[in-house]
Amino acid sequence: MPLLVMKFGGTSVADLARIENAAKKVQAEVARGYDVIVIVSAMSGETNRLVGYVEGTSKLYDAREYDAVVASGENVTAGLMALRLQEMGIPARSWQGWQVPINTTSAHGSARFIDIPRANIDAKFAEGFKVAVVAGFQGLSAEGRVTTLGRGGSDTTAVAFAAAFGAERCDIYTDVDGVYTTDPRISSKARKLDKIAFEEMLELASLGAKVLQTRSVELAMRYKVRLRVLSSFEDTDENSGTLVCDEDEIMESKVVSGVAYSRDEAKMTLVTVEDRPGVASAIFGPLADAGVNVDMIVQNISEKNYGNHSGAVTDMTFSVPTNQVARAQKAMEDARAAGLINYDELIADTDVAKVSVVGIGMRSQVGVAARMFKALAAENINIKVIATSEIKISVLIDRRYMELAVQALHDSFELDKA
Ligand code: ASP
Ligand code: MG
Repeated sequence: MPLLVMKFGGTSVADLARIENAAKKVQAEVARGYDVIVIVSAMSGETNRLVGYVEGTSKLYDAREYDAVVASGENVTAGLMALRLQEMGIPARSWQGWQVPINTTSAHGSARFIDIPRANIDAKFAEGFKVAVVAGFQGLSAEGRVTTLGRGGSDTTAVAFAAAFGAERCDIYTDVDGVYTTDPRISSKARKLDKIAFEEMLELASLGAKVLQTRSVELAMRYKVRLRVLSSFEDTDENSGTLVCDEDEIMESKVVSGVAYSRDEAKMTLVTVEDRPGVASAIFGPLADAGVNVDMIVQNISEKNYGNHSGAVTDMTFSVPTNQVARAQKAMEDARAAGLINYDELIADTDVAKVSVVGIGMRSQVGVAARMFKALAAENINIKVIATSEIKISVLIDRRYMELAVQALHDSFELDKA
């Protein structure tokens, strides 16, 4: 039997009527001849509610119990979905993570998959079951404890099942009808993409386009799982939504496919650090040890001399999520106190945002950066930091210009036109 994975996010299973609506989509695929593995999230708002219970009980909570509590939201929707399918006459049953089993590491709250043995679910399909409804976001550690994968983890569960079971496709049903050239709330000209390459989606997902959990796209790219993002609130057919696929499947791509942004950025500058081998390592080692997620890094021109510094000094600028500024400051102060580094000042600018253009077409096209900078200059937007990769150019700018920058870039690269 050909097999599909269908994942329904929290808003798609928010109440009994929506579960029924989702079940009808499953029924349609069963009618087309598929065996289906359905992955469900918790009802929307439920995971937050459960996290609140844990935090309201214990400040320094035991992460194993956090997972035990927080994973329960998906158990409810898995059971309800199986019941609804049964009501429709479809042979279905629910599966909690441990029953499959979904084997994960023991990193509670951010566990990673080890493997998903197929035998148990395959045996049920062989018995005549048409649908396996699996609780997303959860797994089982080698110690026999319930684990969770991190927020948004059901997307990753879905892709992992699609890879393990060789599914024809992994359909991610959500409350938007696909992946857009940018956030439609920011630019009314945003256009839905029919297809997008894994690598582009990965950049867009990690740059703040919150459609899919980044890990799910990484996994899809590694195992070449064709992913489709589509709305559970609309009538859908095999051409609906956006297909996230290998770039070979995309005939011709534009230079830039999308504009992404992230509000949640802070720019930090270490003023006058010594310019000698080992300094970068002495800075970013302690930041990594402190769990600070450094994104862009810029080292100023070296070999300048300042009055009160005996040797050459330089400035080092890097960006971190806004909520990690305090942690980064502490890591740097500790490193200085321990004699690992020296600096005059650590400046934190928390009023910045990152805006990026992404596209695999950049690999073969010149002048993309120039066009981007020209569009920003025309709006009088000052660029504070620039970083590039093969398929992306990112800038840090004042946060108050973020929306303007996104709109200007969307226009400049004519993303409203197919
Ligand atoms: N329910 C979990 C969350 O809200 C996982 C998911 O929905 O993907 O993060
Ligand atoms: Mg989600």
